[in-house]
Amino acid sequence: MHASLELNPPSNEPVLTYAPGSTERAALIRELERQASTPVEAPLVIGGQAVLCEPMRDIRAPHRHSVRLGAHAVAGAQHVDRAIQSAMDARAGWNQLSFDQRAAVFLRAAELLSGPWRQRLNAATMLNQSKTAPQAEIDSACELIDFLRFNVYFGTKLQAEQPLSTTGVRNRIFYRPLDGFVYAVTPFNFTAIAGNLPTAPALMGNTVVWKPSPHAVLSAHHIMQLLMEAGLPDGVINLVHGDAEAISESVLSNPAFAGLHFTGSTTVLQGLWRRIGENLPRYRCYPRIVGESGGKDFIFAHPSADPLALGTAIIRGGYEYQGQKCSAPSRLYLPRSLWKSLEKSLCEEVAQIKVGDPADFSNFMGAVIGKDAFRKITGYLDLAARDPSCRMVFGGDSSDEEGYFIRPALIEVQDPKHRLMSEEIFGPVVAAWIYQDDRYQQALEVCEQTSPYGLTGAIFARDAQAVELAQQTLRSAVGNFYVNDKPTGAVVGQQPFGGSRLSGTNDKAGAIFNLLRWVSPQTIKENFNPPRDWRYASQG
Ligand code: NAD
Repeated sequence: MHASLELNPPSNEPVLTYAPGSTERAALIRELERQASTPVEAPLVIGGQAVLCEPMRDIRAPHRHSVRLGAHAVAGAQHVDRAIQSAMDARAGWNQLSFDQRAAVFLRAAELLSGPWRQRLNAATMLNQSKTAPQAEIDSACELIDFLRFNVYFGTKLQAEQPLSTTGVRNRIFYRPLDGFVYAVTPFNFTAIAGNLPTAPALMGNTVVWKPSPHAVLSAHHIMQLLMEAGLPDGVINLVHGDAEAISESVLSNPAFAGLHFTGSTTVLQGLWRRIGENLPRYRCYPRIVGESGGKDFIFAHPSADPLALGTAIIRGGYEYQGQKCSAPSRLYLPRSLWKSLEKSLCEEVAQIKVGDPADFSNFMGAVIGKDAFRKITGYLDLAARDPSCRMVFGGDSSDEEGYFIRPALIEVQDPKHRLMSEEIFGPVVAAWIYQDDRYQQALEVCEQTSPYGLTGAIFARDAQAVELAQQTLRSAVGNFYVNDKPTGAVVGQQPFGGSRLSGTNDKAGAIFNLLRWVSPQTIKENFNPPRDWRYASQG
């Protein structure tokens, strides 16, 4: 890599409001109508070429089964091999470009997304992933723009990290890409993550095979088009849709596989990791594994908590995007002294929440992502209904007639280690355990030990000592800790995001820590005055 431009830290992309009468709202409505009435054919993109092949699979809206948004191509083994080959062919050319030249592609993409492409990606995210306008805006517009700009800034800083040079000797670190291609496997729930996982390694000089979620094909299609419009050279990122297991099998058995950039469930990450372990003898290097996975995030309230702030955090954190954020709090630890009044106000507030088609801007929630998610989440609701130790405080209604709709649910449990308090449900279902006020420390310890995950958590307290105790007790329990705020909504550059334990490798997306994983530093010592006599002075 060559010397790089000096960059100041970028600012976070401002979040538009979509208030009635705003120009952005009018533009978004137009784009929603256009995309809903113009089905796309989403190809594979291999070596910059669009590949459409039979059979195509339908792309549908989770909130309206009758809407067909288009169809996407499905990769066969030959396409996966070609995608790998294209990535390997593109490596040398991509690496001949300086970091600044590569960065320019992604900065251009950020500018396009901030301007003319904004509503294209927002509408795709609303239609195919059932996000409301504000949820799409903070994801497919703002967070993705931030990832693109902040990665360039952090990449520049990383290159400035150089060793000492002494008189007559110059030492340098050359930030090489990994010795092969990177496999990016992305989840349905954040368009920004889908965009970040292939582009962060590419910025650092790697070439990529990208397999998006089958539930987010439309936004993946538009991200790929955006990157091409921004000047991404052919073959740097190769997009393949299709059977996740078969594609992964081909990719992970290729000797040139050098890194996995994954976000998704813990089970899938563990399966991929196992496969990589089995294939180790085939590879020409030890592959990097960056995997962010499941969570069982919590809100913990101390008796001194502000009840209004607490209630708002529970509603926004637990139910926005139908509880399908990896950081969404789905277990609550509440003191008995606050519980009765909080229960009453939560019931009143939640009764006002509208669930439905995100194109209706008065809806606070859309549908859950698909049939399997609907079954899994309603399965947990059935479990709670059958279990006499659980009390349904509100919610539990669901219908998959028109779309996959589940109303927000809150379940009080007697057992703090109940499955509802430890397993990832990934839907609008929150469990609450009520502790005795004088057992605060013990309750914190229960929280620390309940779930195998370690992603996000929040403490609500006005008492400074209570905050301190929570921070100390929960130090290893979460990768992102919030004080008097909901545990969702991490902002790139402000709260580097990632969890430990079974929540992932904690490489903090959109931060310098993550970029470090996509380079293999080479140290170069250059001697301007090498010794010309092999004898040492001590021998004289
Ligand atoms: P998922 O694990 O079902 O799918 C993720 C990706 O893996 C998709 O591209 C999918 O097609 C692929 N995949 C599925 N089965 C596979 C297999 N057998 N082999 C290879 N690839 C396979 O996850 P999802 O439902 O898309 O996303 C939700 C999950 O992601 C939740 O568990 C959530 O907590 C997690 N998540 C974590 C973070 C984080 O930062 N920790 C962020 C977002 C989402």
